[in-house]
Amino acid sequence: MSESHSPVRRVIAIEFGLRESLKSEVHMSYQLYGQPDGEQHTTYYFWLIEHEQGPILVDTGFYPEGGERRKRQMNRHPVAALETLGVDAKDIRLVIMTHLHWDHAGNLLDFPNAEFVLAKSEREFWNSDLAKNKLFSAYFDPEAGRDLDILESEGRLRYFSGVAEPVPGVRVLEVGGHSPGQSIVEIDTRDGVLLLTSDAVHFNDTLEKRMPFCSMTDLPTGFEVFDMIESRLESGTYVDVVTGHDPVVATKYPPVDAERAPFAVVLSPKEAA
Ligand SMILES: [Zn+2]
Repeated sequence: MSESHSPVRRVIAIEFGLRESLKSEVHMSYQLYGQPDGEQHTTYYFWLIEHEQGPILVDTGFYPEGGERRKRQMNRHPVAALETLGVDAKDIRLVIMTHLHWDHAGNLLDFPNAEFVLAKSEREFWNSDLAKNKLFSAYFDPEAGRDLDILESEGRLRYFSGVAEPVPGVRVLEVGGHSPGQSIVEIDTRDGVLLLTSDAVHFNDTLEKRMPFCSMTDLPTGFEVFDMIESRLESGTYVDVVTGHDPVVATKYPPVDAERAPFAVVLSPKEAA
């Protein structure tokens, strides 16, 4: 891909919420690793792709009600965060949904002109009786189910299986593991291919120490996804991998605007050296 032809102008991570907990509360079977317990902050993000066809979202944050029920801190509503960045929710034409967990699939009706792209297997799972079991249902909000039905009735929910490229330079890969239709997003940027893992990889430690998140619907697949991502990073296929909930993302990359929007950081392009 030639640099000048990348249709992606910028990729931005937007932090909107926070959870403070112990490591043993978020990493699966943490005691097996023989490491001391300690604080683990979980940062909640969604992502904005500035594309030549218009702004695209990857996930939409959580409903304020869903955050309140779980006592999670919402630092700013995703729509308000976008407004601060000069993006009107009405101008979003495409939302990529990485999965349907509560903290990624909220506020769906706040984007009245958007088409939503989602793995078919993910929707089917959450419509199934299996999903009623507590270990699954704890991660799904009824508001999302209600609003997905509305989007579907309006013809705004588009399903895919395997791989989709809803706009040039942005590919959604259904990988599973964390949730049945968990998807990751490959973005062709000026720097190379940037991967947004969403919850296929929660934290940098998840990948580096092979410590999966406490909730996985298919653990072996989850590990295969770690291997696939790591090998593509090592081979240079991916120039960068951005994990779904690591607090380091908010500090490692430069802010969009340190004064007005310190909560949003530019993942790509990299600043000129
Ligand atoms: Zn999540």
